[in-house]
Formats: sequence, C-alpha cells, structure tokens
Amino acid sequence: MDWFADGMLIMMMAFIGIFIVFFFSVAFYAVFKALRKMPMEPATKKSTEKEIIRQIIKVRCPYCSHVYDETLDACPHCGGKHP
Ligand SMILES: [Zn+2]
Repeated sequence: MDWFADGMLIMMMAFIGIFIVFFFSVAFYAVFKALRKMPMEPATKKSTEKEIIRQIIKVRCPYCSHVYDETLDACPHCGGKHP
C-alpha cells in the first residue's frame, strides 16, 4: 500500500500548498488595501477642509441675497458694498 501513502502525501502537500497560497493572497490583499487606503484618507480630509474654507469665505449679499466671494469689495450682482 505504498501508492496510497504517496497519494495521501501528495494530496496533503497540495492542500497545504493551496492553503499557503490562499493565506498569502489574503495577507497581500489586506496589506495592499491598507496601503492604498492610507494616502486616500488625508486627501479626502484635505478636500473637506478646503470645502469648509470655501464655504466660510463665501458671503451672502444683504441687498439681493446673492452669494459671492468675501474677498470682493462689492457684490458682483447688484454692486452693494460689503458689510
Ligand atoms: Zn447684491
């Protein structure tokens, strides 16, 4: 029954090999995902901060309620002076 033992050994080796390949692929996928996710988060945070800043510098005209940039001295819609 030597052929049976050899067959079992080959099957076990194949099973272990598949397990190792599966484990490494999962591990590499997790590492790759973590590495890809890391530079994404600060970029999203930065854009959100930019958006907040953009919202702050926007001002609503008290005369015509037109939203314009705070850096402008007067409203570009009606020419009303900045309060
Ligand atoms: Zn205006």
